[in-house]
Amino acid sequence: MTGCGGKLARLTSQSQYDICVPGECMQQLSTESCITRNPHAAGCNRMLKVLLHGSCSYDCAYCSVRLDRSHHSFAPRELADIVHEQYRNNLTGGLFLSSGVPHDTDEVMSGLIETARILRSQGYPGYLHLKILPGASRDDIQESARLADCISLNIETTGESRLRFLSGIKDYAHDIMKRIGWIADAAPGRFMTQLVIGAAGETDREVFDCVTALYGNLHPSRIYYSGFRALPKTRLSSRESTPAWRPRRWYQIDSLVREYGYSREELLPILDDNATLPNDDPKALLARGNDPVDPNSASFADLLRVPGIGPTTARAIIAAREDRWIRNPGDINMDAACLRRAMPYLAFAKVPRQATLALFA
Ligand code: SF4
Repeated sequence: MTGCGGKLARLTSQSQYDICVPGECMQQLSTESCITRNPHAAGCNRMLKVLLHGSCSYDCAYCSVRLDRSHHSFAPRELADIVHEQYRNNLTGGLFLSSGVPHDTDEVMSGLIETARILRSQGYPGYLHLKILPGASRDDIQESARLADCISLNIETTGESRLRFLSGIKDYAHDIMKRIGWIADAAPGRFMTQLVIGAAGETDREVFDCVTALYGNLHPSRIYYSGFRALPKTRLSSRESTPAWRPRRWYQIDSLVREYGYSREELLPILDDNATLPNDDPKALLARGNDPVDPNSASFADLLRVPGIGPTTARAIIAAREDRWIRNPGDINMDAACLRRAMPYLAFAKVPRQATLALFA
């Protein structure tokens, strides 16, 4: 049962364009198991990532699944048995299940849900990420949220006109945004979405507005970024693929929004006059020209704006200065490379006389 077989290999390989962990660099461990591994994922780093159906009647301009003529599909029980056996044999810790849409959306959603239902009824305790299809019904979204650890629907691009360039079938407002709203209601704090950077010729300013609006209004737990890849035989095969650095920079900006609390206004100056993101560390770019801060008095937010200092280090600095005056870089417990990046933005004030007396009393 755990042998890969042509169908499992094919449907696993076709799932590669959906991202299920940040900064994904999934590796296929072997042709026998069809299991991918992500060394950066906490908890569940071995995942079976697979499609239920490997063909699609939609027309997304960059997608190779729609070109597949082999029409491989799993029946829900067949796939559930494979997944559960891999889990029992300790080969995987989770399942990421998506699908092409060879026929009616509701039918495909019902197959995805049925697979999840069988797994849970068999006592499968593993991680389960279910993909929601554009245009899915509210009931199916709620049932998916009940069964899965997290659910996701790809927003794909930044707005109506950009999506129209990619697909004549999907409707941005109705099939995508309305559904993402339902998903946010059904699975608060455990839903994701994915943007394909560069597919529709969108500017970084448009990506920026889309990302900040999503986090501000709908609060997805993560947004994933993949670079557009010009695949042979697709409608966009002659376009240039997005350089790998661009989605990587978007992950950095994403982290500044989510973890560092940067506001939209603070981040906007990163974009150049053409509304384009430079290939440079966004946090370092924003810090250039800033006055150095004193670790003894800087607020948590100010410390977070120093390159090389993240939330953990900022908290450690604030805890450390309760007990002692921070006189020099040696008093900060920091990785050497991060400290080197931080040094131009730190100024260590001399110990005030009053503090000296208090500290050494
Ligand atoms: S919906 Fe679009 S992106 Fe998804 S499998 Fe079908 S053609 Fe590809």
